[in-house]
Amino acid sequence: MAQETGRVAIITGGNKGIGLETGLQLARQGVTVLLGARDLAKGEKAAQGLKKEGLDVRAIQLDVTDQASIAAAVGRVEREFGRLDILVNNAAVMVDGRPASPSTVPVSAWRETFETNVFGLVAVTQAFLPLLRKSAAGRIVNLSSILGSLAEHSDPASPIYHALVPAYDASKAAVNMFTVELAHELKDTKIKVNAAHPGWVKTDMGGAEAPMELTDGAKTSVWLATLPDDGPTGGYFHMMVHMRW
Ligand code: NAP
Repeated sequence: MAQETGRVAIITGGNKGIGLETGLQLARQGVTVLLGARDLAKGEKAAQGLKKEGLDVRAIQLDVTDQASIAAAVGRVEREFGRLDILVNNAAVMVDGRPASPSTVPVSAWRETFETNVFGLVAVTQAFLPLLRKSAAGRIVNLSSILGSLAEHSDPASPIYHALVPAYDASKAAVNMFTVELAHELKDTKIKVNAAHPGWVKTDMGGAEAPMELTDGAKTSVWLATLPDDGPTGGYFHMMVHMRW
């Protein structure tokens, strides 16, 4: 572990699903966790649940599509902690609708998807980078998906060959590219940047038929958020195994 105690993490979309479970697991390791929520009331309710365990979990208003909200969150973290150790870019939407085909998903759905999953993620990362640079061991975890893999989508033998969610898939491919290039830019710093495929997980997005429980669904994010100094950067992982891009 890079730092035994005193680490500070912020998780976007931390009020439910994989983000909330990631917060729980990080807090149980002694990390101070800020659960980002676009609706602060939902974040506070989620944080209350974890505080009952005696964990240091706080809600923070953070809509990744709202620059003023991002700036306010950065200001609060700067005032309260003076640095950020872990940024988990977890918030995302899937609005393609089903069935979805590249020829018919409306451009409005592409815009809505990219606004949150790509532009929001980039904006949050750029805004928090100065505070991450102040960490002794900054970690950025970008929630991608196996659905962002060009190799999987173009392989007829892949389990996701027929799983077309065009705008969402392309947004996660863009997240992968941002991960690789930001890791390249930061390769001589203490900051590691990696992309995570959590698995197909039972959440509002994943649906009830998903095979993975939340406890396992958060493990990839938690592992990448707590990588040791000799851990990887610029990778794309599921459960500690590198994915095909
Ligand atoms: P989820 O249950 O739908 O939760 C998504 C979270 O993102 C919610 O907290 C939501 O807030 C938040 N969010 C959406 N738009 C936002 C915005 N503009 N600003 C801030 N927060 C926003 O999804 P999940 O299944 O936990 O997914 C978490 C991550 O894992 C996502 O990046 C997803 O793409 C990825 N992933 C999931 C699966 C899966 O099987 N579940 C598989 C692969 C990848 P509200 O509560 O306000 O809506």
